[in-house]
Amino acid sequence: SSLLDGKVAVISGAASLRGIGMATARMFAEQGAKIAILDLDGTAAADAAALIGPAHRGYACNVTDRAACQGAVERVLADFGQIDILVNNAGITQPAKTVDIDPESWDRILDVNLRGVLYLSQAVIPHMQQRGQGSIACMSSVSAQRGGGILGGPHYSAAKAGVLGLAKAMARELGKDGIRVNCVTPGLIQTDINAGKISDDKKVEILAGIPLNRLGNVQDVAGAFLFLASDLSGYITGAVIDVNGGMLI
Ligand code: NAD
Repeated sequence: SSLLDGKVAVISGAASLRGIGMATARMFAEQGAKIAILDLDGTAAADAAALIGPAHRGYACNVTDRAACQGAVERVLADFGQIDILVNNAGITQPAKTVDIDPESWDRILDVNLRGVLYLSQAVIPHMQQRGQGSIACMSSVSAQRGGGILGGPHYSAAKAGVLGLAKAMARELGKDGIRVNCVTPGLIQTDINAGKISDDKKVEILAGIPLNRLGNVQDVAGAFLFLASDLSGYITGAVIDVNGGMLI
């Protein structure tokens, strides 16, 4: 049998074909899960789901919109009947200096990366509580731990640090309901979010700070999500898994 046989996983921000969400969706599907991809564009989400196989589906959902999160989760439940796993992966970044962060950028970065985690979690929690089980995994970042310094600005670091606090608070509150909540903090992973944005010189400098001497790939992060989604991590909640090649040693 496989690690996620019979499970249904909702993954946000998984329509980007070279992204961490899509790699996670593929890895979960290989382990027997049915996948619901939620992303801004419903057609892109459905196309991505179809690439994985006919058992999976895509849904339009802007995670900053509370009603949209509730609606998407209702549709997933109508289609699949249950949700065992939520991966809060949707996110955006922006390089910025502290003094240059205007109110609009602050709101945009905080809304997608932090508010979105709250809204989508709120949408699945009552169902998970009813069933007395569930695993919620949230995407944070090494930027939260080391104060940025690579691509995200201070607002991104603040949002991703907020995710750590929110996830730990949910883990404490929901443990009695059989719901586990954990975070992944990736270092620099090669995806569209940073494609073409790192010069060769900068890359050499970054690699000098990474003991494993390479940038991360999407499977590196998907593997951590798989562990947190599966029963292998059944006694783990409120944890943070660093997937950064040793950047913080
Ligand atoms: P990506 O840009 O390929 O994927 C992000 C996805 O989120 C896209 O599909 C996008 O459409 C979706 N999205 C954006 N706003 C949304 C919204 N409001 N509602 C729903 N979906 C939305 O980037 P990625 O690198 O795969 O990023 C995935 C997550 O990993 C993000 O949260 C990012 O901050 C985080 N992260 C990435 C890295 C890295 O180095 N790539 C490192 C640490 C953390």
